[in-house]
Amino acid sequence: MAGHLQDTPIEFLKGVGPKRASTLTAEMGIRTFADLLFQYPFRYIDRSQFHKVSEIQNDLAYIQLRGRIGRLEKIGAKRASRLVAEFYDDSGRIELVWFKGISWVERSVNAGEEYIVFGKPSQFKGKWNIAHPELEKASEHSVALNSQLQPVYHSSEKLTAQGLHSKGIARLQWALQEQVGGKMPENLTPTLIQDLRLMPRNAALREVHFPSNPNTLQKAVFRLKFEELFFVQLQLLRMQVVRNQKIRGVVFGEIGEHFNQFYAEKLPFELTGAQKRVIKEIRRDMGSGRQMNRLLQGDVGSGKTMVALMVCLIALDNGYQSALMAPTEILAIQHFESISGYLDGTGMQVGLLTGSTKEAQRKRLHARLESGELHLLIGTHALLEDRVQFQQLGLVVIDEQHRFGVAQRSRMWRKNKIPPHVLVMTATPIPRTLAMTLYGDLDVSVIDELPPGRKPIRTVHRYDSSRLKVFGFMHEEIAKGRQVYVVYPLIKESEKLDYKDLMDGYESISRAFPLPDFRISIVHGKMKPADKEAEMERFASGHAQILVATTVIEVGVNVPNASVMVIESAERFGLSQLHQLRGRVGRGAEQSFCILMTGVKLSNEGRQRMEIMCRSNDGFEIAEEDLRLRGPGNLMGTQQSGLLDLTIADLSKDNQILGLAREQAAKVLENDPNLMAPEHQAIREHYDKMVRTRTNWSRIS
Ligand code: ADP
Ligand code: MG
Repeated sequence: MAGHLQDTPIEFLKGVGPKRASTLTAEMGIRTFADLLFQYPFRYIDRSQFHKVSEIQNDLAYIQLRGRIGRLEKIGAKRASRLVAEFYDDSGRIELVWFKGISWVERSVNAGEEYIVFGKPSQFKGKWNIAHPELEKASEHSVALNSQLQPVYHSSEKLTAQGLHSKGIARLQWALQEQVGGKMPENLTPTLIQDLRLMPRNAALREVHFPSNPNTLQKAVFRLKFEELFFVQLQLLRMQVVRNQKIRGVVFGEIGEHFNQFYAEKLPFELTGAQKRVIKEIRRDMGSGRQMNRLLQGDVGSGKTMVALMVCLIALDNGYQSALMAPTEILAIQHFESISGYLDGTGMQVGLLTGSTKEAQRKRLHARLESGELHLLIGTHALLEDRVQFQQLGLVVIDEQHRFGVAQRSRMWRKNKIPPHVLVMTATPIPRTLAMTLYGDLDVSVIDELPPGRKPIRTVHRYDSSRLKVFGFMHEEIAKGRQVYVVYPLIKESEKLDYKDLMDGYESISRAFPLPDFRISIVHGKMKPADKEAEMERFASGHAQILVATTVIEVGVNVPNASVMVIESAERFGLSQLHQLRGRVGRGAEQSFCILMTGVKLSNEGRQRMEIMCRSNDGFEIAEEDLRLRGPGNLMGTQQSGLLDLTIADLSKDNQILGLAREQAAKVLENDPNLMAPEHQAIREHYDKMVRTRTNWSRIS
């Protein structure tokens, strides 16, 4: 029975047929009865309320009036351009206007008769009117589809042409309820339904389309959101369970000589409390006998590199090699240089492998890796190549995770008989709700504390018209011995234009900061890696005072003497990206500044972004705001995950329901990790079906 409903082709629903069916499939992906049932309304209109004409005000959205149609008048020459009808009740009058379908309206509307009018009033030349209202003869009025809250559905031009505008779709939903309502199998346990006071599934599926009242609607929506998030969490948590059951990990039982010696003699600063805590969490994982899959989140500058290094030392103490993978060559080089510096005199051997490593050098690296002489290999994607073989790879650290795909990460697993531990580090703070979903099967550690002595960066927003003043400020800072970044956006589609902006900017900066007193480096995507590196080096060494760049410096570079970040066309960057860029300064002891440059014309959202940046230095707060402003689909690195294709739940709003769903899913799996218990049969059946149908739901760790 249930199987039938889900899978019955939509063309067999009363009122559909082959033609509408193919349009429903093409336009909305609706193939079966169930597909239609899960197309929920995106809003509701309260049709139980009537207004008086005299009550119309600016801020009313859609309203419903009851009154009589008076005179009809066609306006325009031979072919009328619009039809205007006067409409009145005992409080006043208003105009109804049609620009299309004029002759049809003329034929079907009777002057003098009483009507229910529904629409959105707007003002034209000081007078109120409603364009293209819905009209219904008062004598034929029934509370639409037995519901006071009328569902509004997404439609499309092609669907509308076949009579399937929102109301047409509502009619199909109604037919669907008549035919199969009440027959969807319950997919939660009676215990869950009772304990959480959830509406039963069939009732919820009916109420969400045809609410009895606002209260039951709210309950229905809650139930459906919970159900959706519950099954997502169940799947994520199951991945964890399966991994723990099946995948044995390398055991790092000891802390030994290398770690201890480094800690006692080489550590250049006291670790922060957060760094210590995170290292402990990682150690516990790595000693547990199961494979670690941990996400390390920490704001820019929170000191993730040192954590990574200390973890590599533990690997070495247990006789294993490590790999550290960075998304760009510049970053890999920087990691290599700073880590080699820390390790000087410790006996831990570090190598660097990137796309531009020379063949002879490469051969030597390969040999040292295979013999086990090399303990830590730092590099880019080049590490993934099959010819890179380790003697005993025990740990893989991946920096700035969102630049690597899932497939790439899993390739590292295969470089050892037992898959190595994986530590993924990201400086993009991810709001808790997203982290729970995107990384729901990873363990998460958070460094929530910056090293001491950092002065918060001062951020200001300036218009392009004050560029000279900004140049003046740069002069002052440079005179104090500081260095300055100037960053231009580079967005793929408009690359040529962006490139021109960058070069124009470079020229005007060169004029304002002329040789021989000033030296300017420039880095952009069209340069050869060797040239980029040389330019970066000129800046990093302090030879150049200004670095003009596209977003290549977005990730990770560390020049503590740089104290000013100027971001051009700042409105074109997302919040998280702005925060990342800003994180390039504020790394030394000096007061640092971030200057956001924009034109005077700014969208509302753009303006809000600038305000948030000026107000907050907290990456997590900024990420939450980003989620709120742009929705989950647009956040960095989340686009292709497929995890965010939710039907009814909204990760930017439903964090409480999400927390509840995750907690309940964990509780179910606690005593019954494989969902074999009879009381979990309903859950299991739905789960199996979901796993079968959501094929794009690939693993994400
Ligand atoms: P991120 O987390 O952005 O990768 P880094 O690892 O690059 O941060 O660290 C940023 C800077 O902070 C580096 O210059 C590093 O040497 C310094 N640092 C890291 N941890 C500490 C600490 N506990 N105390 C003082 N400085 C630290
Ligand atoms: Mg870093």
